[in-house]
Amino acid sequence: MQVTSLSVVRLIAPNPGPMTGPGTNTFVVGDPTGCIVVDPGCDDVDHLASVAMTGAALGGIQAIIVTHAHADHIGGAAALAQQTGAPVLALVRAPDGVPFADSLVADGDEILAGTQALTVLATPGHRFDHLCLWHAPSGILFAGDLVAGVGTVVIIPPEGDMRAYLASLARLQTLPITRIWPGHGPAIDDPPARLAGYVAHRLAREAQVLAALRAASQPQTVAQLVPVVYADTDASMHAWAAKSLLAHLLKLAEDGRVRRLAGDDAGPWELVEA
Ligand SMILES: [Zn+2]
Repeated sequence: MQVTSLSVVRLIAPNPGPMTGPGTNTFVVGDPTGCIVVDPGCDDVDHLASVAMTGAALGGIQAIIVTHAHADHIGGAAALAQQTGAPVLALVRAPDGVPFADSLVADGDEILAGTQALTVLATPGHRFDHLCLWHAPSGILFAGDLVAGVGTVVIIPPEGDMRAYLASLARLQTLPITRIWPGHGPAIDDPPARLAGYVAHRLAREAQVLAALRAASQPQTVAQLVPVVYADTDASMHAWAAKSLLAHLLKLAEDGRVRRLAGDDAGPWELVEA
């Protein structure tokens, strides 16, 4: 029997905040013969020095892979690449018009970390350029911002897409995952329960959107729907809630269950009766 052993070192970038939790997780992953860095985090000299040192101790950094091009994940990519000579790998070369990846990876690609092979899973939703890394022998998944260590993930159109997000979650549910390492926060050791909870949470919100449209006597704008659908959420969060609500409406529109009557995404929106 082949013995597989994947070393995972988690280094938390010094960028804590409301959207980043304790800070972005940077992972140095591999075995004594080599490693890769997953999400270099922010451009902080001490953090990147720790990452480089950890990588050197694990046989040297062969590649720097980013789960998606949000600043808290890629901020340190260029500096780390310069320090170590390792290429930056991503799903999209210039997602915001500024090229940052040295080479592209695609769904199904295998990336070697020493002798350990990790598989690239294209998982759009939180963002269109999002990927996860899957180590099949151990069942460990590096999930980026598809899943959060604590709480849920924001889906903000147009870069976020609720329909794609739910499809990505459904795809993960088909894998025998034993542990999820998220982009922020602690490891998740009950992946099936957590993924099922995530899906249930989004579908419950979707049901609330449909119920609110059904209960209203006329088409509703996003601004009218927010306080109804997010009655359980503090009013100070309603600006964020409006973005999530729009993500749900766009998904339901693609499903053919609602339609926008006029104007822009603000609505009004109405139910499509079957
Ligand atoms: Zn993100």
